[in-house]
Parts: sequence; C-alpha cells; structure tokens
Amino acid sequence: EHQYRICVVGPGSVGKSAITIQYLSQQFVSDYDPTIEEYYKNTIYVDNKVAYLEIFDTAGQDEYKSLRSYNFQSGDGFLLIYSVANRKSFEEVLDFQQEILNSKDLNNVPIVLLANKIDLDEKFHVVTKREGVDCASNLGCSFLQTSAKKVINISEAFQECVRLIRKQ
Ligand code: GDP
Ligand code: MG
Repeated sequence: EHQYRICVVGPGSVGKSAITIQYLSQQFVSDYDPTIEEYYKNTIYVDNKVAYLEIFDTAGQDEYKSLRSYNFQSGDGFLLIYSVANRKSFEEVLDFQQEILNSKDLNNVPIVLLANKIDLDEKFHVVTKREGVDCASNLGCSFLQTSAKKVINISEAFQECVRLIRKQ
C-alpha cells in the first residue's frame, strides 16, 4: 500500500546515477562508478498523499542484461533516460521499452522518458526536443527534459512516475 518501486533505466552514462543521487542527496556526482547498482528508499508526498519509494539505480551495461530484466520485473514504474548529447542512447530507448514490456508481460507500464543533460551547451545537443516528444508519444509515456547537474525537473520526474503508477 502506497509503496512504489521505481527503476531508473537506460544506456550507460546517460545520468541514471547522477539523477538518482541528485534527487536523494541534493548533490551532483560527476564520477559515480558506472557498474554499481544501488537500491534506495525515500518517503515523499505526491498530491498530498504519502508514497514510500524504493528506487533502483540500475547499471545499463549489456553484460548485465539478465540482471536487468530481473530488476525490471519488480518495477512498478520506470524512469527511462537518454542523453540529449548522445544519439545512440536515444536510439536505444526503444529496446529498453521493449525489455520493460516483456519483463512485465503488460502492454501499459508507467514510464517517464527523460531527456537528460539539457544544461549542456546547444552545440552539444544532437537529439532535439521534438524527437523526444514524438518518441514519448509513440511509446505512450510521459516526457521531461532534465538536468542532474543544474537540478532541472529531477523531483518532478519521480513525482510524475508516482502519478502514472497511481493511475494504473
Ligand atoms: P549512468 O551510467 O547512467 O549512471 O551515468 P552517470 O550518472 O554515472 O553519469 C555519467 C556522466 O554524465 C558523468 O560524468 C556525469 O557527471 C555526467 N552527467 C550526468 N547527468 C548530467 C547532467 O544532467 N548534465 C551534465 N552536463 N552531465 C551529466
Ligand atoms: Mg550509474
């Protein structure tokens, strides 16, 4: 009851750990070990209702694929992240969504698509906002532009995920 497991997923180095740690500890980590999978707890209020969060910061490396789908099974909602400065990470979003749907055996799973690192200078942006919006609408999920570094839409992302889970 009121307990929600949120999996933070996506390719390597898009900012999964930076977003999770910024959210939980209000600090930006620039050199977090990419192989670490960590599990956190946090209690928040969303729309005046309590939410006991269990947050899984997953490792996106291919070598851990079996571990990955195991984690996905237990997720009630997902933050699916790509980097606006990395086209390959954007192209992999579809694979991740498919993996999530497969492991949950459902057609409709609460997913918030996050376009991270929007603080970077425009000249490094290789994925446009329009592409992100279109992708989210094709996948039927929510969309937010985020920055773990400049703290943009970080708590909003987790709140939106809780809202989607509650709507299920
Ligand atoms: P993960 O492998 O997805 O967990 O990625 P990390 O959280 O370890 O981040 C990978 C790299 O991207 C690190 O050097 C972070 O400092 C950097 N990074 C993460 N989020 C942001 C962001 O919002 N803006 C910028 N400029 N860099 C970020
Ligand atoms: Mg990480």
